[in-house]
Amino acid sequence: MKIYFVASEAVPFVKTGGLGDVSGTLPMHLRNIGLDVDLVLPLYKQIKEGNYPLEKLFSSEIIFGDHLLPYSVHRQENTFFIEQDSFYNREEIYNTPGGDYPDNNLRFAFFSRVALELIYKLGGADVIHAHDWQTALLPVYKNIYYPNSQEKVILTIHNLAYQGIYDAITIPMINIPDSYFNIEALEFYGRVNYLKGGIIFSDFLTTVSPTYAKEIQTEQHGFALEGVISKKRKNLQGIINGIDYDYWNPETDPHITINYGEDSVFQKKENKKKLLAELKTGCSSDYPLIAFVGRLVSQKGIDLIIEIADQLANLPANLIILGKGEKKYEEEIKARALSHPNNIIVLTTFDEILSRKIYAASDFFLMPSQFEPCGLGQLIALKYGSVPIVRKTGGLKDTIQDYHEKTACGNGITYEKQDAEELMDSIKRALLYFPGENYINIQAIGMKCDYSWTSSAREYLSLYRQLTNKE
Ligand code: ADP
Repeated sequence: MKIYFVASEAVPFVKTGGLGDVSGTLPMHLRNIGLDVDLVLPLYKQIKEGNYPLEKLFSSEIIFGDHLLPYSVHRQENTFFIEQDSFYNREEIYNTPGGDYPDNNLRFAFFSRVALELIYKLGGADVIHAHDWQTALLPVYKNIYYPNSQEKVILTIHNLAYQGIYDAITIPMINIPDSYFNIEALEFYGRVNYLKGGIIFSDFLTTVSPTYAKEIQTEQHGFALEGVISKKRKNLQGIINGIDYDYWNPETDPHITINYGEDSVFQKKENKKKLLAELKTGCSSDYPLIAFVGRLVSQKGIDLIIEIADQLANLPANLIILGKGEKKYEEEIKARALSHPNNIIVLTTFDEILSRKIYAASDFFLMPSQFEPCGLGQLIALKYGSVPIVRKTGGLKDTIQDYHEKTACGNGITYEKQDAEELMDSIKRALLYFPGENYINIQAIGMKCDYSWTSSAREYLSLYRQLTNKE
């Protein structure tokens, strides 16, 4: 079966978050179970500068707006890259510190349009698998330009909060007929909504956890698309993301000081000592280390962490934050670190190697998310023996079970309500367990969990089979 993934980021080439992890690793695991999967990405500056051995396949052009726009296609093994320098040869992928690139509407419409064209030039497919708003126009273009073709299009929603909403003036600029600007298609409160178009025109929708699949049909989590999504509920499935244990494994991770596994987890604390020394902080390695690695946006609950930071600094514990995001959160959390230099460390960069050291060094991993489609941080943390403290929402609810002392079951600490007091109470409960028998139990249960791609890749395989009636 021939599958094309079309995505705006994928590891190892380019990543800003979970979408990059999934679009890079899932195809590999699908190949391992016999599918023929290729990936299409924009050729960003970061990829050009990455010295990948790209082979140029051809150049062509396409009508875009009112003119012909050239593009070239490059390839490295199973990945095709679309080159159009005026769109993709920029410092960042989506935005500068000042905000989103103002022509993201054109950049990702063009990418979706050319990716579709490329797939047909390459002989078509059984399934085209698009991801998030950036490629959500692909099924719309297919409906316009190839209405009778057999390919099934799946759209995976990794985060419904990002929809690609632009002024109506966009429509003629991206070669979509005016007739698609109506409430049954792309129109959304007088503007154009790429994700809405994708939801309506794809054959099947998936999202990245079963709980999130339910949540996005509610007003609370539906971001005004709950009605449109509910209409498609018979063609909607939540499939939990996996992680790649060859890539995220404390036994083999080359970037951490001491490798360890389930049987040698006592050695983990050497990583904490080394990291705290490396960062030249006043934090004592005798205290439990609570980590947060993630985007500094309200979705991730960073506002609550800021709210409790002073209280936290009075506990016998240290907090380390690695995250980039909204300036106001970066500044506020940095200010807390300045006030409590012996308890709080804040690093506002995107640094994967550092993130690995933090997963390996930390005793607890904090995810107080407002909503969380799947979440990868908690899955990595489990593997690295860092006990997750999470709010029960979306994928966090599906992957982390609260620990019960009586039964000694559960792989983390969970709480219900998104408020600072509940968060603080669960941190205090977690700290009470540390470093005793209960902590050791939770950590051991977590490290044994299997959130590899194996079972999720099989779920995608059965979905592809069901949609295409092919083996
Ligand atoms: P999202 O996709 O919403 O950002 P996920 O939990 O699904 O959140 O995935 C986040 C991924 O990005 C994880 O692999 C996490 O380790 C990584 N990550 C987030 N922020 C940083 C950072 N500042 N430096 C390094 N890695 C980061």
